[in-house]
Amino acid sequence: MIDSRENSNPDTDSQKLPGSILTELQFRESKDFLQSVFDTSPVQMSVMKAVRDAQDNITDFRILLANHELEFETGRTDLVGKCYGEEYPGVRISGLFDLMLKVMETGKPERIEYFYPYENINKWFSSMFVKLEDGLVSTNLDITQRKLTEQRALKNLTLLEQTEELAKSGSWEYDISTKNFWWSDGMYKIFQIPKGTVVTPDIYLDYVIPEDRENAQRLVRIISKTSEDCEEIMKLRINDQVKTIKIKCVPVVNAEGYTEKVLGIDIDLTASFHAMEVLTIQNHKLFKSKELLRKKDEFINIASHELKTPVTSIKAYAEILQQKFEDTADAENASLLQKMNTQINRLSGLINNLLDTTKISEGEINLSKDQFDLNILIDERVEELQRLSGLHKLRFEPGMLEPVIADRERIGQVLTNMIINTIKYSPGGGEIYIKADSIDDGVEVSIHDKGIGIPGDWLDKIFDRFSRVDASSHKDVPGLGLGLYISAGIINSHRGRISVASKEGIGSKFTFFFACVPTFLINWVYVICHE
Ligand code: ADP
Repeated sequence: MIDSRENSNPDTDSQKLPGSILTELQFRESKDFLQSVFDTSPVQMSVMKAVRDAQDNITDFRILLANHELEFETGRTDLVGKCYGEEYPGVRISGLFDLMLKVMETGKPERIEYFYPYENINKWFSSMFVKLEDGLVSTNLDITQRKLTEQRALKNLTLLEQTEELAKSGSWEYDISTKNFWWSDGMYKIFQIPKGTVVTPDIYLDYVIPEDRENAQRLVRIISKTSEDCEEIMKLRINDQVKTIKIKCVPVVNAEGYTEKVLGIDIDLTASFHAMEVLTIQNHKLFKSKELLRKKDEFINIASHELKTPVTSIKAYAEILQQKFEDTADAENASLLQKMNTQINRLSGLINNLLDTTKISEGEINLSKDQFDLNILIDERVEELQRLSGLHKLRFEPGMLEPVIADRERIGQVLTNMIINTIKYSPGGGEIYIKADSIDDGVEVSIHDKGIGIPGDWLDKIFDRFSRVDASSHKDVPGLGLGLYISAGIINSHRGRISVASKEGIGSKFTFFFACVPTFLINWVYVICHE
């Protein structure tokens, strides 16, 4: 094999190793010897001689010897006699060539691990260059597998560290025979001790709070003596902070059935326990306030029911009395009785409102739906309410509406609430516009005043129960803050929507909408029902 190389590369004949000292024969023998030694090496090896230009600068390295392993790895048997830099131009880009020059210059061996992405090689190598006369001996080892394994391990370790960081956890391994207790970084973080500190399972006994000592003892016993799965939660005092730690471990049993190791994970539950405690307290508070609200509703309901019957009787008696005084032409007493009736009406309206609020909060407002003309209903209410104030002018603009199906009484109640509000909250009087429109597949009613308006930060609270604007201009007007709450409840139970737009000092516009069943559908249902 060597002969054939020499035949094919007469140039190498002149490259005597180690040069001038050896005779031709010695050189051949030594070369043969070297070749056979090289060929037994499992590492890729080559001997190269510097190629110099006229100024004695090294321009390349000619390969004098290449062992079997190198031929096998490169798939080339023709390397001897060739120039390294010409065959593998990547060595110049990768910096490897510079390293070879350095070895030639300093005479000191160099080792390097590198990734070689040229000439379609794409592998990791560990190379060593040793100067020999005017050349180099190079060893080359393919370390791609090792590097990939290292990278995978590094990736897994990084992943483990990130997972531990996120989960506030740490993992460990206890070797039963060597008693070595290995900790991940996460464990050192939990225990707040320097990374690498030597630890033993007894550390749990050192840190556990007295109340949980038994748990810690059981854990230590399981880790070091028995081969059981185990899960413990205990509180550890770490740097004056009591941490709640959950520890889970499993034994690793070998083929003979002996436990070799115990693998474990510690999870710091302090934050989640704290969050749970806070949540429990909040839940408790919420439950208590809900309970209080429920009791308040219950009280309002009972009180209103109890008041309703006597007030209804008083109202009836007062009306009879008023009638009697009117019949006997006792104008003075009849007028007193009329005033009394007005107050009784207010009182009974109030009681009805209170009863409605409890119905709405319990979600049981019953609707009695009918088909009616909304324009007519609005017209009736406008006419009735106009009598309340000479200062205000109610202007109604009817819409082109199809008959609606809704609870006439309840929709009337919403209109009354809103129109009375416009009067109440426009103390200077003025015009109030009421408009009905047919939009999308429903009707929209808007009530617009130029009164005192509502401050912006109150707009989203105005439909809440007992909500009254906290401004002196509003406080002067009597009310309980129930009208809009009831109106919203009624419109919601019609699956509609209610809204307000308002500017302080400019006025307010209340709008409500509810969907209508198309007339052809009503007629169709009517025909079906009457066939
Ligand atoms: P109240 O009986 O107190 O009037 P409402 O539920 O009807 O209760 O109204 C809630 C609050 O909304 C009122 O106290 C008032 O502050 C404000 N409000 C309602 N309607 C108007 C309006 N048209 N203009 C200005 N503020 C209004």
